[in-house]
Amino acid sequence: MARLGSGATDGAARRTKERARLVAVAVTCSLLLGPLLALLQPPPASARYPEPAGPRGQAAADPYARFRLPASARRGSVAPPLWYERSNGAPGWTERWVYPDLPVACYQPAAAGGTSASAWQVLWVRPSGERSTLAPKLANARMALRAAGSVFPASAGRFFGSDADLYRDSLSPRWVTTDDCRISVREVPAPADVYDRGPWATSDGGLRDWLVAQGFSEPNRKYVVLLQRTPRYATGDNPESGWQPHAEDYAASLGDSDPSLDNAANYNSFLFVAVGGLPKRPDPAMADWYGPTIAHEMAHALGALAPGAPHANPSNPGHPSDCNDILCYGDGYPGERYDVGCGGVRAGSGLAASRLDCNQDDYFSAAGGPPWAPVAEGAWTAQRWSISHSSFLYGNPQPTAAQLAAHPTPVHSP
Ligand SMILES: [Zn+2]
Repeated sequence: MARLGSGATDGAARRTKERARLVAVAVTCSLLLGPLLALLQPPPASARYPEPAGPRGQAAADPYARFRLPASARRGSVAPPLWYERSNGAPGWTERWVYPDLPVACYQPAAAGGTSASAWQVLWVRPSGERSTLAPKLANARMALRAAGSVFPASAGRFFGSDADLYRDSLSPRWVTTDDCRISVREVPAPADVYDRGPWATSDGGLRDWLVAQGFSEPNRKYVVLLQRTPRYATGDNPESGWQPHAEDYAASLGDSDPSLDNAANYNSFLFVAVGGLPKRPDPAMADWYGPTIAHEMAHALGALAPGAPHANPSNPGHPSDCNDILCYGDGYPGERYDVGCGGVRAGSGLAASRLDCNQDDYFSAAGGPPWAPVAEGAWTAQRWSISHSSFLYGNPQPTAAQLAAHPTPVHSP
């Protein structure tokens, strides 16, 4: 998958500038290309499938064999339906093994840590002068968010069928929910000049700072910002400088690899994904298309990669060289270096491309335990920051009041 806007004319100066931005402020992603392609070519109808035996096109070794469905789920005896993905062989489309029907646990005072527990709040941000499209797109947005969330338990080999399983140690993201236990999506009209200001929502005085000033600054919240449309600066004469999904990664930007909840990445951060391509008609295929993009940004917002990770990619800071997984790019820019340390699947394709940390040694390495298949925590991630330690995932401890107080949300993105 090519990065958005890359082409024969891109110059070293622009890349150098972008690299500096990657290191200093945020981590960007190439996955916006998918939604753009989707606008040109409607996806075929989605269908239900079981978890695949292995990445499509990789008949031999299956590094994800332990992530196969339990027999009870294959028989359909686990309700609600957990396993749902889109797959097709059309040119330009990759397979996304994600699950938009994944259950969402209720975020309520009496459940699993109460409403003080670290949780993801979704914001639907639009320019204040433009008509909202949230209502007709909400069902698709929630499917995309559930699909994104499913990447985390699936990557840990943790499958479940009840709220109790979720709370115990699923490593699913903890969402702020409505009273009827659906993912809360709060609509926020923003001034148009803030919305369309500069190519990075994390720039000083940009949308992120404006949202913090509006009170979205709780240390126990990470904000998933769904932008109603792509900001206008992406559509000018120079699409090379166009808008891309991005997230704050405090582990990377502050150089913090502390493995404990004292890590700066375990508190407030923002991610931004433009979702203008979501259709109004419910369409799990389109939701699945956005889900991996959101999951990629969620991984950054949780602090992937921490500095010094064994496969930190010097040619693409914030991303691993050990591919394929959901944090890997596809083909990238000339000069960027990638390995295929996880089975040799074609870049951007297959099950591996929808899972975190394919060798479980860089940023997501979850210790196992009953009833899960044991997964030994990697030596490096046991001693450094792994996003699988985060209190924003069910099953991990919560920070103390003192730790929360020690991590106030900065006025400007660090
Ligand atoms: Zn990225």
